[in-house]
Amino acid sequence: MLPALTIENLTKTYDNGFQALKGISLTVAQGDFYALLGPNGAGKSTTIGILCSLVNKSAGRVQVFDADIDVDFPAAKKYIGIVPQEFNFNIFEKPFDIIANQGGYYGMPRALAEERAEKYLKALGIWDKRDTPSRALSGGMKRRLMIARALVHEPKLLILDEPTAGVDIEMRRSMWEFLKRINAEGTTIILTTHYLEEAEALCRHVGIINHGEIVENTSIRELLRQLQREVFILDCVDAL
Ligand code: ADP
Ligand code: MG
Repeated sequence: MLPALTIENLTKTYDNGFQALKGISLTVAQGDFYALLGPNGAGKSTTIGILCSLVNKSAGRVQVFDADIDVDFPAAKKYIGIVPQEFNFNIFEKPFDIIANQGGYYGMPRALAEERAEKYLKALGIWDKRDTPSRALSGGMKRRLMIARALVHEPKLLILDEPTAGVDIEMRRSMWEFLKRINAEGTTIILTTHYLEEAEALCRHVGIINHGEIVENTSIRELLRQLQREVFILDCVDAL
Protein backbone atom coordinates (compact mmCIF):
# COMPACT_ATOMS: atom_id res chain seq x y z
CA MET A 1 0.00 0.00 0.00
CA LEU A 2 1.25 3.50 -0.84
CA PRO A 3 2.30 5.59 2.16
CA ALA A 4 0.06 8.54 2.99
CA LEU A 5 3.14 10.76 3.00
CA THR A 6 6.69 10.37 1.77
CA ILE A 7 9.27 13.07 2.35
CA GLU A 8 12.77 12.63 0.90
CA ASN A 9 15.79 14.84 1.60
CA LEU A 10 13.69 17.92 2.16
CA THR A 11 15.70 21.09 2.67
CA LYS A 12 14.72 24.67 3.29
CA THR A 13 16.97 27.68 3.38
CA TYR A 14 15.11 30.91 4.11
CA ASP A 15 15.94 34.11 2.19
CA ASN A 16 18.15 35.33 5.04
CA GLY A 17 20.36 32.27 4.56
CA PHE A 18 19.11 30.36 7.58
CA GLN A 19 18.85 26.62 6.91
CA ALA A 20 15.69 25.51 8.70
CA LEU A 21 15.57 21.99 7.19
CA LYS A 22 18.77 20.08 6.53
CA GLY A 23 17.50 17.17 4.47
CA ILE A 24 14.72 15.41 6.33
CA SER A 25 13.20 12.13 5.20
CA LEU A 26 10.21 10.34 6.63
CA THR A 27 7.36 8.06 5.66
CA VAL A 28 3.91 7.92 7.22
CA ALA A 29 1.82 4.84 6.50
CA GLN A 30 -1.85 5.03 5.64
CA GLY A 31 -3.97 4.92 8.79
CA ASP A 32 -1.09 5.90 11.05
CA PHE A 33 -1.20 8.52 13.77
CA TYR A 34 2.22 10.17 13.57
CA ALA A 35 3.80 12.84 15.76
CA LEU A 36 6.52 15.19 14.63
CA LEU A 37 7.92 16.01 18.03
CA GLY A 38 10.45 18.74 18.67
CA PRO A 39 11.28 21.94 20.51
CA ASN A 40 10.50 25.46 19.32
CA GLY A 41 12.48 26.39 16.24
CA ALA A 42 13.14 22.77 15.24
CA GLY A 43 11.54 23.11 11.80
CA LYS A 44 8.06 21.65 12.36
CA SER A 45 6.04 24.55 10.94
CA THR A 46 8.47 24.93 8.06
CA THR A 47 7.79 21.29 7.15
CA ILE A 48 4.01 21.77 7.42
CA GLY A 49 4.24 25.02 5.41
CA ILE A 50 5.92 23.15 2.57
CA LEU A 51 3.20 20.49 2.61
CA CYS A 52 0.51 23.10 2.03
CA SER A 53 2.64 25.26 -0.30
CA LEU A 54 2.79 28.24 2.04
CA VAL A 55 6.56 27.80 2.10
CA ASN A 56 8.69 27.02 -0.98
CA LYS A 57 11.07 24.16 -0.39
CA SER A 58 14.70 24.48 -1.45
CA ALA A 59 15.12 20.85 -2.50
CA GLY A 60 13.72 17.39 -1.92
CA ARG A 61 10.61 15.43 -2.75
CA VAL A 62 7.18 15.30 -1.15
CA GLN A 63 4.54 12.81 -2.18
CA VAL A 64 1.03 12.59 -0.76
CA PHE A 65 -0.54 9.23 -1.61
CA ASP A 66 -0.01 9.06 -5.41
CA ALA A 67 0.53 12.79 -5.93
CA ASP A 68 3.96 14.45 -6.02
CA ILE A 69 3.43 18.05 -4.89
CA ASP A 70 5.70 19.39 -7.65
CA VAL A 71 3.92 17.44 -10.37
CA ASP A 72 0.29 17.63 -9.31
CA PHE A 73 -0.27 19.98 -6.40
CA PRO A 74 -4.07 20.19 -6.98
CA ALA A 75 -4.34 16.43 -6.44
CA ALA A 76 -2.10 16.51 -3.36
CA LYS A 77 -4.06 19.40 -1.87
CA LYS A 78 -7.33 17.44 -2.04
CA TYR A 79 -5.82 14.63 0.00
CA ILE A 80 -4.70 16.96 2.79
CA GLY A 81 -6.50 18.96 5.46
CA ILE A 82 -4.30 21.43 7.31
CA VAL A 83 -4.75 22.95 10.74
CA PRO A 84 -2.12 25.70 10.91
CA GLN A 85 -0.41 26.79 14.09
CA GLU A 86 -1.70 30.37 13.85
CA PHE A 87 -5.29 31.46 13.37
CA ASN A 88 -5.65 32.67 9.83
CA PHE A 89 -9.29 33.43 9.24
CA ASN A 90 -11.15 36.66 8.78
CA ILE A 91 -12.09 37.64 12.32
CA PHE A 92 -15.38 39.16 11.17
CA GLU A 93 -16.51 36.02 9.41
CA LYS A 94 -18.80 33.51 11.11
CA PRO A 95 -17.80 29.89 11.70
CA PHE A 96 -20.50 28.48 9.45
CA ASP A 97 -19.45 30.72 6.56
CA ILE A 98 -15.74 30.11 7.15
CA ILE A 99 -16.22 26.39 6.65
CA ALA A 100 -18.75 26.60 3.84
CA ASN A 101 -16.53 29.07 1.94
CA GLN A 102 -13.53 26.79 2.37
CA GLY A 103 -15.45 24.23 0.31
CA GLY A 104 -15.04 26.58 -2.65
CA TYR A 105 -11.26 26.15 -2.43
CA TYR A 106 -11.78 22.47 -3.19
CA GLY A 107 -14.41 23.07 -5.86
CA MET A 108 -17.16 21.54 -3.73
CA PRO A 109 -20.83 22.33 -4.43
CA ARG A 110 -22.10 24.90 -1.92
CA ALA A 111 -24.83 22.61 -0.58
CA LEU A 112 -22.32 19.88 0.25
CA ALA A 113 -19.94 22.37 1.91
CA GLU A 114 -22.82 23.64 4.07
CA GLU A 115 -23.78 20.09 5.01
CA ARG A 116 -20.19 19.45 6.11
CA ALA A 117 -20.07 22.75 8.00
CA GLU A 118 -23.04 21.60 10.05
CA LYS A 119 -21.63 18.10 10.51
CA TYR A 120 -18.23 19.23 11.78
CA LEU A 121 -19.35 22.23 13.83
CA LYS A 122 -21.65 19.81 15.65
CA ALA A 123 -18.97 17.12 15.95
CA LEU A 124 -16.59 19.64 17.51
CA GLY A 125 -19.18 21.12 19.86
CA ILE A 126 -19.28 24.66 18.42
CA TRP A 127 -22.55 24.51 16.46
CA ASP A 128 -24.11 27.08 18.82
CA LYS A 129 -21.35 29.52 17.76
CA ARG A 130 -22.03 29.14 14.05
CA ASP A 131 -23.19 32.75 13.63
CA THR A 132 -20.80 34.39 16.09
CA PRO A 133 -18.00 36.41 14.44
CA SER A 134 -14.88 34.31 14.87
CA ARG A 135 -13.04 37.06 16.77
CA ALA A 136 -15.42 36.48 19.69
CA LEU A 137 -14.51 32.79 20.06
CA SER A 138 -12.20 31.54 22.80
CA GLY A 139 -8.79 30.15 21.86
CA GLY A 140 -10.01 26.55 22.20
CA MET A 141 -13.06 27.27 20.05
CA LYS A 142 -10.94 28.90 17.35
CA ARG A 143 -8.75 25.83 17.33
CA ARG A 144 -11.77 23.55 16.94
CA LEU A 145 -13.07 25.79 14.17
CA MET A 146 -9.77 25.33 12.33
CA ILE A 147 -10.12 21.55 12.68
CA ALA A 148 -13.70 21.67 11.35
CA ARG A 149 -12.54 23.79 8.42
CA ALA A 150 -9.72 21.37 7.62
CA LEU A 151 -12.25 18.53 7.39
CA VAL A 152 -14.72 20.17 4.98
CA HIS A 153 -13.52 18.05 2.03
CA GLU A 154 -13.04 14.98 4.26
CA PRO A 155 -9.31 14.62 3.51
CA LYS A 156 -7.55 11.26 3.78
CA LEU A 157 -4.65 12.95 5.61
CA LEU A 158 -5.16 15.47 8.40
CA ILE A 159 -2.13 17.51 9.45
CA LEU A 160 -2.22 19.62 12.60
CA ASP A 161 0.50 22.04 13.67
CA GLU A 162 0.61 22.18 17.48
CA PRO A 163 -3.17 21.94 17.76
CA THR A 164 -3.31 21.96 21.54
CA ALA A 165 -0.65 24.56 22.37
CA GLY A 166 -2.23 27.02 24.79
CA VAL A 167 -5.42 24.96 25.11
CA ASP A 168 -6.55 24.05 28.63
CA ILE A 169 -6.29 20.46 29.75
CA GLU A 170 -10.00 19.63 29.57
CA MET A 171 -10.32 20.99 26.05
CA ARG A 172 -7.10 19.21 25.11
CA ARG A 173 -8.56 15.89 26.20
CA SER A 174 -11.74 16.39 24.24
CA MET A 175 -9.73 17.29 21.14
CA TRP A 176 -7.64 14.17 21.66
CA GLU A 177 -10.81 12.04 21.79
CA PHE A 178 -12.07 13.60 18.59
CA LEU A 179 -8.78 13.02 16.76
CA LYS A 180 -8.57 9.43 17.98
CA ARG A 181 -12.06 8.80 16.69
CA ILE A 182 -11.46 10.10 13.18
CA ASN A 183 -8.17 8.21 13.05
CA ALA A 184 -10.03 5.03 14.03
CA GLU A 185 -12.48 5.77 11.23
CA GLY A 186 -9.62 5.75 8.71
CA THR A 187 -8.10 9.25 8.49
CA THR A 188 -4.30 9.29 8.64
CA ILE A 189 -3.17 11.96 11.10
CA ILE A 190 0.12 13.81 11.49
CA LEU A 191 0.53 16.32 14.24
CA THR A 192 3.41 18.41 15.43
CA THR A 193 3.82 18.90 19.11
CA HIS A 194 6.37 19.72 21.74
CA TYR A 195 4.52 17.69 24.36
CA LEU A 196 5.81 14.14 24.76
CA GLU A 197 2.63 13.25 26.66
CA GLU A 198 0.55 14.29 23.66
CA ALA A 199 2.52 12.02 21.36
CA GLU A 200 2.17 9.26 23.97
CA ALA A 201 -1.59 9.73 24.30
CA LEU A 202 -2.30 9.71 20.59
CA CYS A 203 0.38 8.45 18.29
CA ARG A 204 1.74 5.14 17.06
CA HIS A 205 4.85 6.55 15.43
CA VAL A 206 7.01 9.51 16.18
CA GLY A 207 9.73 11.47 14.43
CA ILE A 208 11.89 13.69 16.59
CA ILE A 209 13.08 16.82 14.86
CA ASN A 210 15.77 19.14 16.16
CA HIS A 211 17.70 21.90 14.38
CA GLY A 212 16.17 20.91 11.05
CA GLU A 213 17.13 17.23 11.29
CA ILE A 214 15.18 14.09 12.11
CA VAL A 215 17.18 12.63 14.97
CA GLU A 216 14.88 9.69 15.75
CA ASN A 217 12.10 7.95 13.86
CA THR A 218 10.45 5.11 15.72
CA SER A 219 7.33 3.75 17.36
CA ILE A 220 6.10 5.56 20.43
CA ARG A 221 6.55 2.35 22.44
CA GLU A 222 10.20 2.09 21.48
CA LEU A 223 10.79 5.77 22.24
CA LEU A 224 9.30 5.42 25.72
CA ARG A 225 11.37 2.29 26.34
CA GLN A 226 14.52 4.21 25.38
CA LEU A 227 13.59 7.15 27.59
CA GLN A 228 12.95 4.85 30.53
CA ARG A 229 16.33 3.29 29.98
CA GLU A 230 17.95 6.73 29.96
CA VAL A 231 16.16 7.77 33.13
CA PHE A 232 17.26 4.49 34.71
CA ILE A 233 20.89 5.13 33.71
CA LEU A 234 20.73 8.68 35.05
CA ASP A 235 19.30 7.36 38.32
CA CYS A 236 22.18 4.88 38.55
CA VAL A 237 24.70 7.66 37.91
CA ASP A 238 23.03 9.81 40.56
CA ALA A 239 23.28 6.94 43.03
CA LEU A 240 27.06 6.67 42.60
P1 ADP B 1 8.96 25.08 14.83
O1 ADP B 1 7.63 25.08 14.15
O2 ADP B 1 9.53 23.71 15.03
O3 ADP B 1 8.95 25.86 16.10
P2 ADP B 1 9.79 26.66 12.53
O4 ADP B 1 9.69 25.75 11.38
O5 ADP B 1 8.71 27.67 12.72
O6 ADP B 1 10.02 25.80 13.87
O7 ADP B 1 11.15 27.46 12.44
C1 ADP B 1 12.38 26.78 12.25
C2 ADP B 1 13.50 27.80 12.21
O8 ADP B 1 13.38 28.61 11.05
C3 ADP B 1 13.49 28.77 13.40
O9 ADP B 1 14.83 29.00 13.79
C4 ADP B 1 12.86 30.00 12.82
O10 ADP B 1 13.33 31.16 13.49
C5 ADP B 1 13.33 29.97 11.39
N1 ADP B 1 12.38 30.63 10.48
C6 ADP B 1 11.07 30.40 10.36
N2 ADP B 1 10.52 31.18 9.42
C7 ADP B 1 11.51 31.93 8.92
C8 ADP B 1 11.60 32.96 7.91
N3 ADP B 1 10.52 33.33 7.22
N4 ADP B 1 12.81 33.50 7.68
C9 ADP B 1 13.91 33.11 8.35
N5 ADP B 1 13.91 32.16 9.31
C10 ADP B 1 12.73 31.58 9.60
MG1 MG C 1 5.84 25.81 14.79
